[in-house]
Amino acid sequence: MTADTAVFSPVERCWVCRHKGFGRFHELAFDLSAFERQDPELAAYTGARLWLQRCRRCGFAQPEALPALDRYFERMYDQQWSEDWIASEFDSRSKDPIFLGILRDLRRRVSPGRLLDVGAHVGKFVALAASQP
Ligand SMILES: [Zn+2]
Repeated sequence: MTADTAVFSPVERCWVCRHKGFGRFHELAFDLSAFERQDPELAAYTGARLWLQRCRRCGFAQPEALPALDRYFERMYDQQWSEDWIASEFDSRSKDPIFLGILRDLRRRVSPGRLLDVGAHVGKFVALAASQP
């Protein structure tokens, strides 16, 4: 399998309201090249393209299709990151503006308290939150 022959299952109804009408708004390209050694079938989706679409009834955005590969999400979230990669991701400042914007919005909406980051990646968001006055 290559990007040209990658198999997808169409998303025919909105995941939220079950409507069938959509409007495309963004085309994405898969990059799963990090899985070349660990999971070649998953890596084969690299280069495949897919549209994101918005439901014409409720506005929820979702992909027009999902990879048909067995256990796709389980395999994708099983990436075995190297210690060096985790350290470089934590040290990178590329997501700081996004995280700091979220923290500013949180401060406007809720009183100071505890913060739980579900799906915390390398823990950068919580580390930034802890460093804020
Ligand atoms: Zn909908």
